[in-house]
Parts: sequence; C-alpha cells; structure tokens
Amino acid sequence: MTTYARKKAQLESRLAAAGGARGLSVRKSTSNLFRDRGAHRGARIDLSHFNGVVSVDAAAGVVEAEGMVTYEALADATLAQCAVPAVVPQLKSITLGGAVAGIGIEASSFRHGLVHDTITSMDVLTGAGQILTCTPDNEHRDLFFGLPNSYGTLGYALKLTARTVPARRCVELRHLRHSDPAAYFADLERRCTDDGIDFLDGVVFSRNELFLTLGRFVEHAPEVSDYGLERIYYQSIRERSSDALTARDFLWRWDTDWFWCSKNVGAQHPLVRRLLGRRRLNSITYQKVMRWNARHGVTRAWNRIRGIHAESVIQDVDIPIARAAEFLAFLHAEVGILPIWICPIRAPDPVRRATLYPLAQGTPSVNFGFWDVVASREQRPTGFVNRAIERKVSELGGVKSLYSDSYFTEAEFWAIYDREAYGALKRRYDPDGALGDLYAKCVRRA
Ligand SMILES: Cc1cc2nc3c(=O)[nH]c(=O)nc-3n(C[C@H](O)[C@H](O)[C@H](O)COP(=O)(O)OP(=O)(O)OC[C@H]3O[C@@H](n4cnc5c(N)ncnc54)[C@H](O)[C@@H]3O)c2cc1C
Repeated sequence: MTTYARKKAQLESRLAAAGGARGLSVRKSTSNLFRDRGAHRGARIDLSHFNGVVSVDAAAGVVEAEGMVTYEALADATLAQCAVPAVVPQLKSITLGGAVAGIGIEASSFRHGLVHDTITSMDVLTGAGQILTCTPDNEHRDLFFGLPNSYGTLGYALKLTARTVPARRCVELRHLRHSDPAAYFADLERRCTDDGIDFLDGVVFSRNELFLTLGRFVEHAPEVSDYGLERIYYQSIRERSSDALTARDFLWRWDTDWFWCSKNVGAQHPLVRRLLGRRRLNSITYQKVMRWNARHGVTRAWNRIRGIHAESVIQDVDIPIARAAEFLAFLHAEVGILPIWICPIRAPDPVRRATLYPLAQGTPSVNFGFWDVVASREQRPTGFVNRAIERKVSELGGVKSLYSDSYFTEAEFWAIYDREAYGALKRRYDPDGALGDLYAKCVRRA
C-alpha cells in the first residue's frame, strides 16, 4: 500500500466508526482565510496529515499530491525535477486543496487560468462520508467543477493531480512603467497573448505610476537579486527596470513581505528585519501577529482612543479586462488603498468553467488585490467600503473572492454564486448538511 492508500484506508475506518462525516472540519496549523469565524463546535476529523507529495512526473507534466500539502513543499518537489506547478499561489503556506476550494492565482494565470484550471483529478471526502474520485469526464464531474469556491462545504480534497510546466534555474524580469491606466490595461491585454513570457503581473503605486512585470524562465542570469532579508521586492519594482531571481526566490518573492503588508507589523524597518531574520520574514509570521492582534483588539483599542473608525478592506476581485480601468478609477476615488496588485487571468474555458466561481466568459479578467484598513473620522455603517466594492464589482460584471469579509444579502449572494447548482451539489454530496452552507460560512462566518 502507498502512504496515501494507507491514510485513506485509516480515514475510511474512522469515518465508519464515527457514523459519517458530521462535524467534519479540517484541522490545520496555518490558514490564509481572512475572516474570523465563530469557534468550531463538535469534533474535528484531523486531515492535516494528508500533506505529502505522492509523485512527480515532469516529463508527463503532472504532480500528484495530497490536499493539505503546502505549495512550498509542492514547488520544492517539482523544482527538483526542473518543473513547477502551472500556477503557484504566492504564499508558501497555501495548500493545494485550499487553493482549489478558495481560488488560487498567480502571475502565470494569464496563460494557465486559476489553480483549479490546472487540476486534472481529485479524490474528495464528501459530506456524505464517501471518498470519490472526480475528474472532468467521470460521473462525479459535477463535484470536480463544483469544488472551486466551495470552501470546504461540499467536501475536502484529499489527493489531487495538477499540471506542471518545465522550469529553468532563474526568472528574468522586466518592470515596465506606465502613467495612463487605459494604456496600461491595453498593454496588459496585449501581453496576455505574448508567447515569449512565462509570468505577467503588475502593481499600481499611485494614480500615474503603474507597473507591469514580465517574467521569463532562463537557464542563466549574470546576477540574481536577493529579497529575503535586507532588500524588499516590491520596492525594487520602482527602482530598476530589469532584474533576475532564482526560480525558487521568484515563486516566493511576494511571501517575504506578504506583498507589502509586512509594513503593518513594522517588518520593513532594517533593524526589525535583522531581528526577525530570513526564517521569520514570511507570511506565516505576519498572519500570527495579525490574528493575535484581532483576538486581543490592540489596534481596535488604539483607534478608539484616537477617535478613528477603521474598516478592514482585504479583498481580491476579478474584473473583465475591458472594465478594469473603470474599476481602478473607482478604487482611487472611493477606497484609496495603495499599492494594488494586478494579475491577469485567462478567459475560462466554457466547457471547464467552475460552477461556483462565475468569471466573465470570453474575455480575460484582471485580479485586483488590495489589503489594508480604510480609516475615517466619521462613524459609518458596518462594512460601508466593502459593500461599495461588492456593488461595483457586480455592476462591472466581475466576481469577488470569498476568503475575506463579505456583506452580501443572501439574495445577492446566490444570484452571483449559483444557488441552483449549489443546491444540487449539496443534495448529492452532503445531503444531511454535515459541512455547513457556503453563504453561512463566508458571509455570516458560521
Ligand atoms: C492577505 C491574503 C492574500 C492572499 N493572496 C493570495 C495570493 O496571492 N494568491 C492566491 O492564490 N491566493 C491568495 N489568497 C487566497 C488564498 O489562496 C485562499 O484563501 C486559499 O483558500 C487559502 O488556502 P489555504 O490552504 O491556506 O486554506 P485555508 O485558509 O486553510 O482554508 C480555506 C478554505 O478552504 C477550505 N479548504 C482547505 N483545505 C481544503 C481542501 N483540501 N479541500 C477542500 N476545502 C479545503 C477550508 O475549509 C476553508 O474554508 C490570499 C488570502 C489572503 C488572506
């Protein structure tokens, strides 16, 4: 028996003894969810040990791995065979199953789509307590296409097969500066069909300072930069027009400073960087600090003393590329968070589209990532800015990720995320509601 087969057999006998999957909830030491949820009631079945790489076949362009494997471990296993998963989300602790259930993206998404578009097969533990193999063509294809954006409410992916692409030792970068948003998004769209690049993303630093970063695998670079300690990757984008990183450093270029959010915990100060050291300069450290702060309310108390009303705005939204400049203008006018991360996404294949994540059809979309606090002197209704963003995204035909706060009414939510299809999936794979409801989990934080 392989290790995975043994773990699976043990899980099956535990489920049989427990009488099904009621109360099933994954126990993990890290999470990239950004909404606080009520304490979990009931027993948890620990799936955290489903965290290994099963096999890598770089020649065939596939990696088989368990659902709770981190992308750091997955990328290391594939890099050893000169390959990388086709889409590697930017944070080391994101897991393969979490990135499918919660929508993973990266600078290769302009070519390969979102993480779930790179998956060819999944073993899913359903709410009904069965472990089913789902592929795009078999009798469980509805679950295969239903799992993306289901946040563990249909089942947990225990093992997945993902596509890989060949990698080289280094990635060469070009940072192109623009000053006009319309020209910027036109350039972005044009480059989405450029076969000469492997990666494409961007950063908006101000109204007239917008960058595209073009990346290309190369075997050798005359010199490679190090952004793991003293220097900070996002700052380098404004400072130099070309650069090179090792392939591994490139994959984690955003993790060291959590894009730029490390500034919120003082980790961009040279002394703090030295004290933290390479091992602790990463998103896992910052998440721990932020969660501790949220639990103990330190920033909340400080804001109260200063008479400031602060709203956390941590969002990733996907907008059809033709409306991207309009959305950016809205962000500048109504939200004011900078920098903004920009990442194009290939138009979804109409035959393989994710049922619960309705990206615009027939056109690339642009992911806007903006993560900060919006402060105001006036008392506003709860979720005031987040609500405005939700309305604008819907107006422009976009779709919002659900890993953070959402304020949709139930009717609005299900008009976007396909109540009918979700209901059919629930009836088939979680008939007793063992895993909870998507709206309750993502909006009511149940
Ligand atoms: C600040 C911030 C920045 C982010 N940046 C990026 C980014 O740059 N790129 C990117 O791709 N994503 C990004 N994300 C989103 C992230 O990919 C998703 O939140 C993803 O779901 C996290 O995966 P995880 O493994 O940490 O899962 P968790 O946070 O542990 O879980 C997320 C959800 O998925 C469910 N889940 C977990 N494992 C499984 C499984 N095996 N099968 C089924 N369901 C499962 C859980 O029940 C939970 O509801 C970001 C999130 C935050 C908060």
